[in-house]
Amino acid sequence: LTAHVVVVGGGFGGATSAKTLRLLDSTIKVTLIVSSDRYITCPGSNWVVAGLTQLDRLTVDYRRLQANYGIDVLVDRVDRIERERRRLRLASGRQVAYDRLILSPGIAFRWDEIAGHDASTAEIFPHAWQAGPQTALLSRQLQAMPDGGVVLITVPADPYRCPPGPYERASMMAWWLKQHKPRAKIIILDAKRSFSKQALFEAGWARHYGYGTANSLIEWHSLADNPIVELDSRGNTLRSEFGDRFQGEVLNIIPAQAAADIARQSGLTDSGGWCPINPLASQSRYDEFIHVIGDAAQYAPIPKSAFAANSEAKACAIAVVNLLHQIPLTEPNWMNTCYSLITPEHGISIVGVYKLDAEQAVAAVKGAGGVSSPLSADFAEREASYAISVYRSLVVDTFG
Ligand code: FAD
Repeated sequence: LTAHVVVVGGGFGGATSAKTLRLLDSTIKVTLIVSSDRYITCPGSNWVVAGLTQLDRLTVDYRRLQANYGIDVLVDRVDRIERERRRLRLASGRQVAYDRLILSPGIAFRWDEIAGHDASTAEIFPHAWQAGPQTALLSRQLQAMPDGGVVLITVPADPYRCPPGPYERASMMAWWLKQHKPRAKIIILDAKRSFSKQALFEAGWARHYGYGTANSLIEWHSLADNPIVELDSRGNTLRSEFGDRFQGEVLNIIPAQAAADIARQSGLTDSGGWCPINPLASQSRYDEFIHVIGDAAQYAPIPKSAFAANSEAKACAIAVVNLLHQIPLTEPNWMNTCYSLITPEHGISIVGVYKLDAEQAVAAVKGAGGVSSPLSADFAEREASYAISVYRSLVVDTFG
């Protein structure tokens, strides 16, 4: 009998796992359930804010996955997972049975940390943490801001999607403002004490944006002991626990995050809001027939990135094929690479390699990976071109 693997979520994790399954074993029936016939990649979406690219150039579809790999693509939403019956109920009323389910549904936003901030105020103060209309809105707000205006970016505590993303965004905004509104200021209000690639970002900001001087385009403040707790949307003001107030013309509030709703509603998340897994075969700790990958799953210390989701998806597909054929599982390896642009000609990167440790937990391989070495202008420029080519190859590897 043909095995049926259903994949939920047409982002980097879901699309890669569906494609890899069919590459490994074309006898497996693979259904990929996607929420829309198009997907806009978050990678590259910070570049939109700087005017370096447009959303339509970051938009992909699933036609190649269907035509070249024989994946059944269903545009629908999963409303419910009936775990005991191994069956999905879709918004259209359809039901889909599975032998194994791969979930890569991405993130949900948590609105419980900042009073006055919710899904409707996020339409005024966009997070733009899922690429789409909010990305365009944030760009328009930046363009409409008066010279001398203030942009506030709030960054949540770990874990969240794309650890270096907020700082690349600040860089891209600064690059645009430097040319069009040089008296403006970007203030990053961070729930953390330190951040990904911090030394490289700060060196880049010092070189291009006056970081560390009174006229810096970018300021970074750790509010780890004094978090932002309230939004006054009429006054465009954020208030911290000890009563500090921050006012701005543009408020880019990036909310705290958790696994997407479908994971929580299906009882696949723990008290932290993410899906615990057994990484050997990416199986949910709560259901051996459900594999969870991508941002929704707990792969720490692997960060939540598109590159990591693609890597997790490949390891997951190999495990699923082995399980279906009752072949012993092999120990996976995972990789992550995240490039960020500080200017269009100045890139930086971080790489990590991961495997299972003696306790079967994910661990970074010592001595592998690292960040870009202190940059000569020439190397920084090459890193910027690698950022573009890594983006393109990841998109083709996933959707092409
Ligand atoms: P997603 O890409 O979010 O895909 C999940 C899909 O599942 C979505 O389409 C969603 O609509 C769908 N879905 C959810 N629930 C259901 C349901 N019930 N039924 C049907 N479908 C459902 N990563 C990098 O590697 N490099 C970068 O340069 C980079 N830059 C970034 C910049 C920004 C500004 C941001 C916000 C993120 C960036 N990332 C980057 C991170 C990257 O976007 C995510 O890590 C990646 O998208 C995770 O993939 P995923 O498959 O887990 O989730």
